[in-house]
Amino acid sequence: MPYNKTRLSPFSLSRLFVPGISPNKVAAASALWFVFHNDGLLVQQGEGGEITLNSTPPLQLGFSAEFSLYIGTYDGVDIYAAELSKPVALPETLYFKRLRTLFGKIDGEIFALAGRAIQIIHWNRDHKFCGRCGSEMKNRTKEIAKICPACKFISFPRLSPAVIMSVVRKNEILLARSPRFPAGMYSTLAGFVEPGETLEETVAREVREEVNVEICNISYVGSQPWPFPHSLMIGFSANYASGDIRVDNNEIEDAQWFSKNNMPLLPTRMSIARHLIELFIKSGR
Ligand SMILES: [Zn+2]
Repeated sequence: MPYNKTRLSPFSLSRLFVPGISPNKVAAASALWFVFHNDGLLVQQGEGGEITLNSTPPLQLGFSAEFSLYIGTYDGVDIYAAELSKPVALPETLYFKRLRTLFGKIDGEIFALAGRAIQIIHWNRDHKFCGRCGSEMKNRTKEIAKICPACKFISFPRLSPAVIMSVVRKNEILLARSPRFPAGMYSTLAGFVEPGETLEETVAREVREEVNVEICNISYVGSQPWPFPHSLMIGFSANYASGDIRVDNNEIEDAQWFSKNNMPLLPTRMSIARHLIELFIKSGR
């Protein structure tokens, strides 16, 4: 595998991506544009039905975005995140598609870059004015941040860390299902980190709250950005310590122990949940 294709982890972008900040840069004709409208990404459909990122710059399509920001380069090509607040007329092969519905249907690297772009767009949209004094915020030039000219309050893009964990008891893994899941699908438990918690405390609390089980041997496995709207999923494996499953029906409707020979329908291979489950299947961890 060539050096620039290697990834630091299964959900990291390849080294083809180099982040950058240059708000005043003039767009090159060959730039990659991640254009959003109402959280939909501008994509194009090929003759075989395959969905790819729109490859035509907005100006050539006859519109300019209200907001655009340079976010780096991919394989040497400039990348821009852009937002359109009003609908525009588009050729038949182009349309806006909600990013979440593109998960697993579009190239993984493009999805990850789009996730980065939409989080910056959301942050820009929601932080136009200072939360402390109400003045209009200005973009900083050396980092992805905004500063209030009046009171100097600084705003960075918001991230909400969430933990996701496998719980293993001998040859079985604890999986649960939410009422929102497709019929028959089970996945790992997950939950948001609260202020003041260590990640390990969150892992133990979520398992206790959702299924009444105590765990031990919590170890870090990996992470996955999850831009819906601005999470970072931090994955762990843990071992069962004590307790019988008692489901908290507020968040999940069922939880069971599954052996690797008797797995239910699982989440997509592009998810860290599936990565944790595969780790159990392959290594019993
Ligand atoms: Zn201020």
